[in-house]
Amino acid sequence: MVYCVGMTGGIGCGKTTVARFFAELGAGVVDTDDISRELTAADGAAMPAIRATFGADFVDASGALVRSKMRQLIFTDPAEKAQLEAILHPLIRTQVEAALAQVRASYALLVVPLLLETRQYLPLVQRVLVVDCPEADQIARTMARSQLSKAEVQSIMCNQLTRSERVRQADDLLVNDGALETLHSAVQKLHLDYLVRASAGHH
Ligand code: ATP
Repeated sequence: MVYCVGMTGGIGCGKTTVARFFAELGAGVVDTDDISRELTAADGAAMPAIRATFGADFVDASGALVRSKMRQLIFTDPAEKAQLEAILHPLIRTQVEAALAQVRASYALLVVPLLLETRQYLPLVQRVLVVDCPEADQIARTMARSQLSKAEVQSIMCNQLTRSERVRQADDLLVNDGALETLHSAVQKLHLDYLVRASAGHH
């Protein structure tokens, strides 16, 4: 199995940006959010079960999940959220394992937003990389590119680990509190380190 770095971070910390930098440098990026979106896109593998469980109202004309409607439902109802997760999580897991098995790069970067909360992907990774940023930046960045209100962003943050707890569990840390160029050079450094670790079979 390919050497695998697990990457996580709170909402809006810069995970997608960091993953893109690693991918450009040649890492084999596997992102659970991307997989989840594919599973619920038009005729995605999760759609038959979603239609059967939640009804045709949650499926649009193309066969894709009506995301806004589902978001609203699970935001207010934990049991419905658990039902959606019971459909998605096993499918995501299977796809993650298949994607990792196909990585031909020197190492894989597995992006899991709730890596340290759910812990189910920890056995697949050799190292944990945390992207960290001040909470004010998380809120501002997330609000700037979604329709979420400040209260909604804060409520999502409440269901995630605190910054200090996440940082405590990190093997490697990327602090994304400045310019993107600064973040990029930090990613370049880590990439070189991961190449060495992967080729030496180190942890
Ligand atoms: P989510 O948890 O919502 O998926 P994320 O952790 O993947 O978010 P990104 O999508 O990478 O975070 O970043 C959130 C937003 O903030 C994006 O619009 C991104 O372009 C912007 N951003 C990230 N880092 C910086 C930075 N250092 N300076 C300015 N903007 C940034």
